[in-house]
Amino acid sequence: MKPIFLVLVSFGFCLGALQAGAAEREDAQVGAATHALLLRTGLKLSQDPAHLARVERVGRALEARIQDTVIPPRFGKLPTKPFPFRFFVVADEDVNAFALPGGYVYVNTGILGTLHSDDELAGVMGHEMTHSWHRHGIVLDREEEKSAGRSNLGMAGVVLGSLILRLPVDTIFGLFTLPQLLAAGHLSAWSRNAERDADAGGVLLMRAAGYDPVGELTMLETLAMERMMRPEINYGIYATHPLEMDRVRSVKRQIEALGLPIHRRATNGSLALALGSAEGCTALSLAGRRVLCAEDSPVRAFAAVLDRQLDGDLRLHEVRVEGAQLVVADTNRLSLESAEAAARAQRAIRFELWAALLRSPQTFETAGDRK
Ligand SMILES: [Zn+2]
Repeated sequence: MKPIFLVLVSFGFCLGALQAGAAEREDAQVGAATHALLLRTGLKLSQDPAHLARVERVGRALEARIQDTVIPPRFGKLPTKPFPFRFFVVADEDVNAFALPGGYVYVNTGILGTLHSDDELAGVMGHEMTHSWHRHGIVLDREEEKSAGRSNLGMAGVVLGSLILRLPVDTIFGLFTLPQLLAAGHLSAWSRNAERDADAGGVLLMRAAGYDPVGELTMLETLAMERMMRPEINYGIYATHPLEMDRVRSVKRQIEALGLPIHRRATNGSLALALGSAEGCTALSLAGRRVLCAEDSPVRAFAAVLDRQLDGDLRLHEVRVEGAQLVVADTNRLSLESAEAAARAQRAIRFELWAALLRSPQTFETAGDRK
């Protein structure tokens, strides 16, 4: 451990003497060198063509709009010169994504497996691209240099330090393991302000590129929920800076302020409705579960209204039965073959609404947390 400590201290000392402008010009160099460092220390890139194509497609769509989209930094600084982005898929089941200075963006296979739509992926990537675009790594490094009791040198600082000292980056390869780098660097230690700025930038960038910013909201909600239910999984940056509900709420407020509707079902795939033909009737399924079967055109009309009702704030008690009629929110009615069939449909719809509630992190907020 001693050699690592000495190297960190000496880089920290040298960086303290750097002029701000020098670091600003080094984004691309720091990104490239850190990328090489990560590969040398064991970061495994995925070559899965489907994953690569998906990440590339969403990333390029966002990149195409990043220069002409006004994303005022609440934290960090805009780059003095635009830079191209590079997108990578990391073969790692940890639910994680991260970015380096100079446009290097990494998405783990583990996070790809938890996302429900390209809108949610655009939420992850828009967030990470904003970290890089607003130069958070460099700016945070600068802040740490200023603080007297500097205890944690960012990875950008380590690599930048070696460049400034004209040491080959190789000299520090042997001193660190990948987990040490990920833990010590800004990859895992974005400040709270940087996180908020990346969230807000992600929303604006998604909207400009034609993605539904609600994808960022449902992505954060899903990750918060996953983290609650599966604490054994390593959530990387998402664990270091937990997805507090105030972050979820601030993204929600931003989307509302933009005047955009919040229809979570479109981006997280929950409570999907489907129609299918069955023996002599048309079946309606909710979340993959068949809830009723009746004459074709009344079922279609009922389903169209139910779709809008599910986008709203439909409550369990609003799904009722009157004789053989299924009644939703007093206005949407469908006659079924018997009172039993109506009761079965009511139970099935209520069950799926309840299951969706259990998957929503808002359900677990205490009353005092709600705003
Ligand atoms: Zn972040």
